[in-house]
Amino acid sequence: MPWCDSCDAYRAPTVLTENGHCSTCDSEVDVSDVKVTAPTKAPWHFWLMVIALVLYLGWRLIEGFLWLFAQF
Ligand SMILES: [Zn+2]
Repeated sequence: MPWCDSCDAYRAPTVLTENGHCSTCDSEVDVSDVKVTAPTKAPWHFWLMVIALVLYLGWRLIEGFLWLFAQF
């Protein structure tokens, strides 16, 4: 992430000067760890939560239908 050490602030790549310096103090901005990476894979517990959510909402839907049919 483009970080200006003298301003101690994040500098968006779009506000840097042409030679990659900070637009506020004109010192060099550390862009070394700007990474163009592929989208990171979602962790396994994310999918666990998705499965849990689908199961829960599915069950609530079934419960809703059961309630609905019990009204007649
Ligand atoms: Zn700066």
